[in-house]
Amino acid sequence: MVVLVDTVSTTPVRPRHPEKVNRPDALSPPKPDWIRVRAPNTRGYADTRRIVKENGLVTVCEEAGCPNIGECWDKKHATFMIMGDTCTRACAFCNVKTGMPGALDAAEPEHVAEATFKLGLTHIVVTSVDRDDLADGGAEHFAKTIRAIRARCPTTTIEILTPDFLRKEGALEVVVAAKPDVFNHNLETVPSRYLTVRPGARYFHSIRLLQRVKEIDPTIFTKSGIMVGLGEERHEVLQVMDDLRSAEVDFLTIGQYLQPTRKHHAVMRYVTPDEFAGYEKVAYTKGFLMVSASPLTRSSHHAGEDFARLRAARAALSR
Ligand code: SF4
Repeated sequence: MVVLVDTVSTTPVRPRHPEKVNRPDALSPPKPDWIRVRAPNTRGYADTRRIVKENGLVTVCEEAGCPNIGECWDKKHATFMIMGDTCTRACAFCNVKTGMPGALDAAEPEHVAEATFKLGLTHIVVTSVDRDDLADGGAEHFAKTIRAIRARCPTTTIEILTPDFLRKEGALEVVVAAKPDVFNHNLETVPSRYLTVRPGARYFHSIRLLQRVKEIDPTIFTKSGIMVGLGEERHEVLQVMDDLRSAEVDFLTIGQYLQPTRKHHAVMRYVTPDEFAGYEKVAYTKGFLMVSASPLTRSSHHAGEDFARLRAARAALSR
């Protein structure tokens, strides 16, 4: 008798972005030659990958398909994404998996701290998925992660990149009380593009969130960023700069939007390096302590070096 085993699963694979599968393909223009990235194949990259996997961690570098991963991981700079790999929002630009996330991992703060130690990071960036399903939006988990890193790596400076905690009363205060060195919350785009690009968020809520951080603890550096190439006008970018300065935000990042899949928002335009240089110049005149504007600028790109410059810029002001 011959026994046949059917090894082909009949369970359908759940799409990464179920809400986008029926959308028509959005076609972006071909990438210009100024968008070039280093291939992820170095020894440093492999070491970083091993430490991330050994600690069972998720990184935004991988989940968002960041173009800088070859460069950053070679230097052991990984940005951890806490609270799982599944996001409760479904922004049109983002490659992070969407759906209903699982329960929080109580051991995750310790694992993040351990990985920070093993990678030897002097500056760590921690971000998260949106957790609209949790009563506090994950604020306490953020605070626990900050405290765990402080305990394991007391000299490491900590930067967090948070969701907007929309309709989560008291959540922001919990995170600020844990005293991160840098509080980053990205606006992502100009207000006129919110409905299409970031429909679950509210522009003025995000501005107010950043302003509240400074009101509660003026010693914390605040940071925010936008992507360009999503159909925004130049004057709208300049208005965003003014809005962020009204909220006393210290550090602005501007980078080129890149389309993760054809179901995501199309790239409307590749902004030239000269235009980025122009944005950087204007932003400094508007009073930001630090500005990073270039095609491959991302919130956490060169975050350690930028933090040192940010601190120096504040010190120079108080002399
Ligand atoms: S820029 Fe940020 S998200 Fe991208 S690879 Fe570097 S650390 Fe990761």
